Amino acid sequence: MKGVIKFLGAAILLLLMVLVINTLRDNKTIPTFTVDKSFEIANANAAQHLSQAIQIKTVSFGDTLAIDTAEFLKFRTFIETTYPYITAQLPRQTFNQFSYVYKWAGKDSSLAPYVLMAHMDVVPVEAVAESKWTVPSFSGAIKNDTIWGRGAVDDKVAVIAIMESVEQLLKEQFTPNRTIYLCFGHDEEISGKRGAKFYSQWFKDNNIKPALVLDEGGQIDTKHFERLKRPMAVIGTSEKGYVNIDLTVEIPGGHSSMPSPETAIDVLNKAIENIRAKQMPAMITPTINEMLNRTKPAESFAKRMVLSNLWLFNGVVLGQLEKSKETNAMIHTTLVPTIIHSGIKDNVIPSVARATFNSRILPGQTSDDVVNFVIKAVNDQRVAVKKQTISLMEPSAITSFESPAFKKLETIIYKSVPNVIVAPFLLIGATDSRYFRGFSEAVLNFAPVQNVKGFHGIDERIGISDLNRTVGFYKQIIKE
Ligand SMILES: [Zn+2]
Repeated sequence: MKGVIKFLGAAILLLLMVLVINTLRDNKTIPTFTVDKSFEIANANAAQHLSQAIQIKTVSFGDTLAIDTAEFLKFRTFIETTYPYITAQLPRQTFNQFSYVYKWAGKDSSLAPYVLMAHMDVVPVEAVAESKWTVPSFSGAIKNDTIWGRGAVDDKVAVIAIMESVEQLLKEQFTPNRTIYLCFGHDEEISGKRGAKFYSQWFKDNNIKPALVLDEGGQIDTKHFERLKRPMAVIGTSEKGYVNIDLTVEIPGGHSSMPSPETAIDVLNKAIENIRAKQMPAMITPTINEMLNRTKPAESFAKRMVLSNLWLFNGVVLGQLEKSKETNAMIHTTLVPTIIHSGIKDNVIPSVARATFNSRILPGQTSDDVVNFVIKAVNDQRVAVKKQTISLMEPSAITSFESPAFKKLETIIYKSVPNVIVAPFLLIGATDSRYFRGFSEAVLNFAPVQNVKGFHGIDERIGISDLNRTVGFYKQIIKE
């Protein structure tokens, strides 16, 4: 007995030593750069311009609903008159009436160009939500050093910041080394099928392979990473896939006064419960792994020990990440019912019940994996399972965090945000830039705005300092 205890004691000691040695050996540090704030001096009118842009109601209502073309025309006139240097000097192509690509020719045509993207459309404000806004939702009010209104964050801040930076540089008679394309879509909020899809195709058709495609998505976050006591800049390097799965149950209905033990609705209901009871297997993707690696130096010793010994603590880390819905979505393919249809009359048992699940697919898994998971979870042949093909999008290719594009962006962020940690991350929503993925290996999602509030919701707003920082950021990219 004594021998066993001794052996166990020695084994535990040895394990502890291995854990500690692994932690200490893992002594990667966070890079330090001298911060240069000189880029952040924006045109004093930039905030005014963003305010004016918000007041133009470029709303994407829905896939099948028409847009108000008068507002989109107004927006075109607004950019033409607000940015006269761009209007006079940069040739513009128009795609499907309201999406634009400007070309700023660089000195060296042998260099691959950069693409700066943003979208001009916004989501609507629900009538019931309007009274909950602090200011009218399309007022563009400037209050407390903040610009308020639908589109302030998503994504007119980027449209205006790109325009301001280019206009200022043109005024200074600056010419970039490489060609810069400015791409503005008009239907990102309804999947970019007429805007980004078309203009990205133009790049493909002309075999123009950008060395950087920069779009919305990542930001500077101090809230979710408060424990690190440093701002965290996350650059999107890939996007989850998108698939809808339809479940259909057909069982003869009848009079509701004499129900059989199981109806189509009952069977569908059970299928939904069974799918929701489980999740597809969790995975720490290479992107999340790198993110954890980069935050590690700022974590406590205990956390560092866990992160440096994933061979032992993988389950612990996954369990932690599963606790919040945001981080859970980073390690799982998600599945949630979003539409249910059945029944026509209160006293008729319907013979058909249908549900649609919306799934966001993790890189490394496919839409077929999702279908197989659903069939297995449902485990009932009466439930027909079919994936929709119309909106199907497999997970995107991943831009390497070792790529020149990532390194360039990273350096600019280190130079403009004191004490920042920069890390790659996985976009759980979809953006216009996905149309470039697979064609360019340099698609990244980031703008240096901090803890943005209210996008797609109530009181969308952005600080004037965020706008100025973003103008400076684009200038640095253009100036290299
Ligand atoms: Zn957006």
